[in-house]
Amino acid sequence: MRSKSVVSDARQVQLAADLVRLGARLQVLESETSLSRERLLKLYKEVKGESPPKGMLPFSTDWFMSWMPNIHSSLYLDIYGYLVRHTPARGIEAMMTAYRLYLEHLHVNKLEITLSFTRAWSLVRFFEAKMIDTAQCRQCGGRYVVHAMDLHDHFVCGLCHVPSRAGKTRKAASEPLKLAMASLPRPATVTRRSAVAA
Ligand SMILES: [Zn+2]
Repeated sequence: MRSKSVVSDARQVQLAADLVRLGARLQVLESETSLSRERLLKLYKEVKGESPPKGMLPFSTDWFMSWMPNIHSSLYLDIYGYLVRHTPARGIEAMMTAYRLYLEHLHVNKLEITLSFTRAWSLVRFFEAKMIDTAQCRQCGGRYVVHAMDLHDHFVCGLCHVPSRAGKTRKAASEPLKLAMASLPRPATVTRRSAVAA
């Protein structure tokens, strides 16, 4: 089945190129495609016009718990969850579509990108490995990223309870973030948009 392998190879190259365009690190490409490291390096340089950054991927779940990253991570994971529940998208396809929707949602709400694609990818991996979970805020009802091992019986999110020591920047930042959390893409919207993106 020679022709089939050519088609599947073309798909892998397409996937790798799309991942590079979304900002994925080399380790993500190695993990999600069956292409050799050598080909991925070449492809990366061709698409980005530069060599991939060196160094390990972040290994800790702590980054996702700090204030601003936690809200962005919660936004992303919520969109990803909708996609998996309401569309046929799974795995890397769902992660990519969710990331595009996340970027679109930030743009609409005039927010800056905080979660890189590689972080979003790591977040889903941590979630699937049950190192990260979501807990419902008892005040706003939104679901937020939390450490899976912690207790969350009386969980209140970082937007409902902005720490009193928080600077003016954080307090000013919380209003547009609240709006963004409250206006998450609905399942129907996601289905339609992901169909367009596919
Ligand atoms: Zn809340």
